Amino acid sequence: MKGNVAVIGAGLVGAVAGLSLAHEGYNVTIFELRADPRLADTEDKNLRSINLAVSNRGIRTLRMIDPQMAERVLADVLPMKGRMIHDLKGNQAEQLYGLYGDAIYSIDRGVLNENLLHEIELFDEAKNEGSIQTKFEHKLVNMDFGNDNDEHSPVELTFRRKNSNDDVHLKFDMVIGADGAHSITRAFLGKKVRMDYSSQYIDKCYVELYIPPSDDPSNKFSISPNHLHIWPRVDFMLIALPNTDGSFTSTFFGPWKLTESLRTEEQISSFFSDQFPDAVNLIGEKSLVRAFQNNPKGSLLQVTCSPYHFKGKCIIIGDAAHSMVPFYGQGMNCGFEDVRVLTELLKKYKHVSEDAFEAFTETRHKDLLAILSLALANYHEMSAKVTSNLYKLRKATDGFLHKLLGDHWLPLYTMVSFRDDIPYHEALEIEANQHRLVSIFGGVTILSASVAILYGLKRGLKI
Ligand code: FAD
Repeated sequence: MKGNVAVIGAGLVGAVAGLSLAHEGYNVTIFELRADPRLADTEDKNLRSINLAVSNRGIRTLRMIDPQMAERVLADVLPMKGRMIHDLKGNQAEQLYGLYGDAIYSIDRGVLNENLLHEIELFDEAKNEGSIQTKFEHKLVNMDFGNDNDEHSPVELTFRRKNSNDDVHLKFDMVIGADGAHSITRAFLGKKVRMDYSSQYIDKCYVELYIPPSDDPSNKFSISPNHLHIWPRVDFMLIALPNTDGSFTSTFFGPWKLTESLRTEEQISSFFSDQFPDAVNLIGEKSLVRAFQNNPKGSLLQVTCSPYHFKGKCIIIGDAAHSMVPFYGQGMNCGFEDVRVLTELLKKYKHVSEDAFEAFTETRHKDLLAILSLALANYHEMSAKVTSNLYKLRKATDGFLHKLLGDHWLPLYTMVSFRDDIPYHEALEIEANQHRLVSIFGGVTILSASVAILYGLKRGLKI
């Protein structure tokens, strides 16, 4: 046994972190403030159902932990090989993500979380050195980092339990904070280290909507199940991701002022009929109005901080360390990648957690800043650029050069979503260089063409 580890949060990243460390021989306890989601009633589950796109970085981490586990956990995914753009008239146009059938994979967040919790139960202590258990309805309320001068002094955690007046106090060698964007672990860490921290609410609100399966017995999907559907309208947009039962989870993103101005049945109906007529037919007008009025309106928060750790005692990962807007579909994938990077560093530094945590903060920060900026920029790409001819030309150029030059020319989306070996900050740098080359080439081409035309005119017209 390599030490006792507390993971705070049994969300997607906390569950994966717990599994990874248990496979490495640690004695892991995961604490979660909520009840076990597998016991929540169906209505509650439906309300919180959000689809996620899993891509290569996330899949690589699951495979690193256990390839068979990865297969079981991702058994219910649907591949999405590109975007399907819906215009105002309801016409659809496909934009493939990659040249070689590359896909990102749609999965229900609730299903994924439950699959991971199930894997925790399947963990076989007889076959592995480590162990893992989960404590639900345990809310972290205090952290005492112990004696500063003694690196081996344990961290004492205090948990408040539902329906109990007695707090629980427990000691651990190491604490992993995976408690989401509003992380309390981060707050305690911030009292201990000189942490740079910034948070920013983006002026976009999101509302979940639902496209039911089709009535057609020969095809349960009313639109293509192998695309991420987008209705881009610049300031706002609608997207839809497929579910295996033929339904789609659709999400409206728009500025808060606009979203909150749509209150009455007439306002909602007329806005959606004007902007997304084909989506109204798919969702059903009455269901759409009901969902828009009653479903929670979510805010989008971006968080950056550094360092991510205190000595070898505590580290934060996932949304706790880098909450990002969802437009690149990387929040969870990046959180899973945190787990891989951290696990590899622990192995590299022979499980001296202080060295591994130090290296994590040093190497990971630039990647996290890079993906945060990419995620923010991708709203503009999804909601507006996808319809511009210049964007389509750049995509076509990228595709052509990628086919011609292979790995020497990689489109940005390919580097971020389909490659798991190019750190985010390198992907950003490579793209900046490629963009510069395309601009220079474009400029030179236009200049040469202009010179040729002028020369031709001069000779032809004998000016
Ligand atoms: P969370 O999922 O927030 O989990 C944190 C857990 O900690 C929770 O269970 C919480 O109850 C628990 N907790 C909090 N405080 C305490 C405490 N004091 N004590 C004990 N437990 C505590 N990412 C992708 O990769 N692909 C996508 O397609 C994608 N789409 C998205 C779409 C939307 C609309 C949104 C909002 C996000 C999307 N994301 C996507 C991002 C993704 O959902 C998050 O990055 C991911 O869920 C973060 O996981 P986490 O485990 O770090 O945090």
